[in-house]
Amino acid sequence: MSDSLSAFNTHIGRICDLNHSAALLEWDQETYMPEGSAASRARQISTLREMSHELLTSDHTGELLGKLESHGLAPGSVEADHVRVVRKDYQRATKIPATLIARLAETAALSRRAWMQARSQNEFHIFAPHLTKIIDLCREKAESLGYKTEIYDPLLDEFEPGMATAHIRSIFEHLRERLVPIVQQFASETAPNDAFLHAHFPRDKQWEFGLDVVKDFGYDMNTGRQDYSAHPFSTTFSISDVRITTRIDENFFNPGFFGTLHESGHGMYEQGISPELERTLLADGTSLGMHESQSRLWENLIGRSAEFWSHYFPKAQTTFPGALSGIDEDEFYRGVNKVSPSLIRVEADELTYNLHIMLRFELESALLEDTIKVVDLPAAWNDRMETYIGIRPETDSDGVLQDIHWSLGAFGYFPTYTLGNLISTQLYNQAAKDIPDLAGQIGEGSFTELREWLRLNIHKHGRRKSAKEIINETTNSKLVIESWIHYIEKKYEKVYGR
Ligand code: ZN
Repeated sequence: MSDSLSAFNTHIGRICDLNHSAALLEWDQETYMPEGSAASRARQISTLREMSHELLTSDHTGELLGKLESHGLAPGSVEADHVRVVRKDYQRATKIPATLIARLAETAALSRRAWMQARSQNEFHIFAPHLTKIIDLCREKAESLGYKTEIYDPLLDEFEPGMATAHIRSIFEHLRERLVPIVQQFASETAPNDAFLHAHFPRDKQWEFGLDVVKDFGYDMNTGRQDYSAHPFSTTFSISDVRITTRIDENFFNPGFFGTLHESGHGMYEQGISPELERTLLADGTSLGMHESQSRLWENLIGRSAEFWSHYFPKAQTTFPGALSGIDEDEFYRGVNKVSPSLIRVEADELTYNLHIMLRFELESALLEDTIKVVDLPAAWNDRMETYIGIRPETDSDGVLQDIHWSLGAFGYFPTYTLGNLISTQLYNQAAKDIPDLAGQIGEGSFTELREWLRLNIHKHGRRKSAKEIINETTNSKLVIESWIHYIEKKYEKVYGR
């Protein structure tokens, strides 16, 4: 058996090496690569990804899994967990025909280009035929993977393993009931002043300020680094090399600073995975929802809290004297938490963000179920925006064409953003129970205990535990929306001074 195990580890280790090498090329593509080499780089990445896919779906993987499963590894051991997770990945990967993967990749490349053109010209009809093809292929993919009740289930499972569409639907039904009236109420009140956030914030100072904060959080620069990119992201080449990127707008404080905190949360998750899982398929976040809970926790629950700014505002003021000299801490706190219904998801405040996601979930599941036609999509989008958020897009570029996800075939992805928000408050509340002085520690810029709590309860497990298991075991509760609603109500009463 030890022979089979070591053959298995070597085989899976090679898959990890290929995946991480492809990730490194992708990171370079987004940060330093000269634009002229886009075509050769795309080929190199696709070669590595194809090789990795071939290894994973090879008969050799199946044979090794069969041998190890029949030997009976000790339940709960790293080896047994690894075999279980590889079996799941193997089944998923072998169910989708190679020809379908190729057609999806090809269609997505064309569709992405059409989407970009449609968005820049505000012409939905340029994108529509491509979207129709993408939806057909996603349906085909769902059929290959198989499902019991809903066609959305197997697509959602790729991003949020074990989560059922019915559960997502009930979460959004409850959210809609509770959240829409709250949003309407705050939209009618006088918003806090945030004009000072649009003053001049020098690039280098922003870079330094953000990086100092994430170092305080515990993002380890010895096994990480930060670079510029047009769209911020985090990426992993091994547990000891986890990188983040940021972008900076010199005339707006929020995107660079909160983006940096956000990505550091993703980065710390990956840096905190137990080193014994290195070079296995267990060394990854357990779901996108859980991953997003980590980024949102640092960005919003910490980075937009009054305690946090009681410590960091004086430093912000000395760093950016031009922009912040006449502003006090309370005004600053209210400014970074201003609610303003926006057409654009990535610019949305904490309060309305989940409504943007709800709209996308409703539409994408309806498209897959064929209860809404592509041609009717723009109007359906605008109607929902008006009902949920209270504003109607004047152009499709600011409406249905704003996100890249559908053009790439990433159906089932959007709900993980909302799951991340919900999970983040539930975990944070538990951390505040387990660390009685947590608010005081944040007020002193001390995050070691919180970071360690997250590492022990969430990060170190990698994919050994599912998101559901982590939530249940850590909080003694299932996933609920109440913690988040309560957090939102309490916070915005404070921000709006009631
Ligand atoms: Zn994120």
